[in-house]
Amino acid sequence: MKKITKKIIKNKRPTWDEYFLQIVESVGSRATCDKGGSGCVLAQENRIVSTGYIGSLSGLPHCNEVGHDMKSGNCMRTIHAEQNAITQALKFGLPLEGATMYCKTTPCPACAKMAKSLGVKRIVAKKS
Ligand SMILES: [Zn+2]
Ligand SMILES: [Zn+2]
Repeated sequence: MKKITKKIIKNKRPTWDEYFLQIVESVGSRATCDKGGSGCVLAQENRIVSTGYIGSLSGLPHCNEVGHDMKSGNCMRTIHAEQNAITQALKFGLPLEGATMYCKTTPCPACAKMAKSLGVKRIVAKKS
């Protein structure tokens, strides 16, 4: 007879928000530019719909290899983590109505407006 022992799990489970913000950190580690280097996760009913990180357009050189393309304080080579996550969802036809957007920092006004217009209902940022 096999003896079954129940172990009491002492470590606290993260909330959904904490869980997705941890994933935002992992996603952001793929960033190719450190100017506001960040990640973004779009979740629908606690499931990941799409992820994005700050980076160059597909096939173009990366800042961490060739340097930034700076214009008035912003790097022009990259698109924002939020833009990447949103465009990936759209590319594959995934609806964002009612979704939550998890970000490392508060998204810029353009990304926030784009998310709102696509039906994103909540934006959760780790840092403001
Ligand atoms: Zn850059
Ligand atoms: Zn933005």
